[in-house]
Amino acid sequence: MFTSNTVLRVAVQKSGRLSEKSLDIISKCGIDFNKGSRVLKAKADNFPIEFLYLRDDDIPGYVYDGIADIGIVGKNEMDEKAYPVEIVRDLGFSRCRLSIAVPNSFDYKSLADLEGKQIATSYPTILKSCLKEQGVSAGVHEISGSVEIAPSLGLTDAICDLVSTGSTLISNGLKEVDVLYRSSAVMITRKDLGETSPEKQQILDRLLMRVDAVMRARHYKYIMFNLPSAKVSEVGNIIPGTKSPTVTPLLEAGWSSIQTVVQEDDFWDVFEALKGIGAQGILVTGIEQMTL
Ligand code: ATP
Ligand code: ZN
Repeated sequence: MFTSNTVLRVAVQKSGRLSEKSLDIISKCGIDFNKGSRVLKAKADNFPIEFLYLRDDDIPGYVYDGIADIGIVGKNEMDEKAYPVEIVRDLGFSRCRLSIAVPNSFDYKSLADLEGKQIATSYPTILKSCLKEQGVSAGVHEISGSVEIAPSLGLTDAICDLVSTGSTLISNGLKEVDVLYRSSAVMITRKDLGETSPEKQQILDRLLMRVDAVMRARHYKYIMFNLPSAKVSEVGNIIPGTKSPTVTPLLEAGWSSIQTVVQEDDFWDVFEALKGIGAQGILVTGIEQMTL
């Protein structure tokens, strides 16, 4: 099928919070590869891509240098490293926020309360730019891990760290008081990929078409139910946006079976409205891929 030997090099996190979901989205794109063996470099079986398994901190730099063609990394890591790479898709998973947290006893009202104070963080670039933007001058201590223990050690007055649930903060006697930045996993590429390699750009475009289908499917559910045939014409008003649902007559006279897709956000409203017009046996399943 492929006439050239060109492969697109995809940098993903070797092991950590992003790894599983990064590989998951690629395998949902119908791309086969050995998920278990995360040796540094591995080729996919049925699509011209090759994986580079790296520390997430190294991904933006490798993409910028052209060692990898694309990468999946937290937006926080991309902005922290500040390489001029391009986001081609926000993949929406691994959502987290970069927040200021202070000891419970600290009476915090705004970032200005950190004037002249010390803040520990693994994200000095992003933190410094937020402080500068708000005209606050504070000491920034870069720590690579376990930032949350800095105040109890007496090292700093506050921290600036990634938070998803906040439980780590609570167990360290800290409270989250300000959200500086929000992040999720993004797919990045170097800016001149298309110019330097039209073939790689073509592979990326094919991959993105699949990624879009997978992401679109995430927001939809497939729904099947039985309905008195007399009510079938009302389905279009209840489930907007679908061109026309599939309607199949049931053996029992006067009843039909309906199949269609529903946006996840609308699901409970649709469910109740369908019950209201006499729908029975409502079955709902997830969708793996979806095109428009
Ligand atoms: P590596 O060994 O690859 O350097 P790491 O320890 O730096 O890994 P992880 O903790 O696996 O990184 O986090 C990777 C990314 O996951 C973060 O950069 C961030 O985008 C995202 N993330 C989501 N929720 C959280 C959270 N609660 N804490 C930290 N990172 C989170
Ligand atoms: Zn890291």
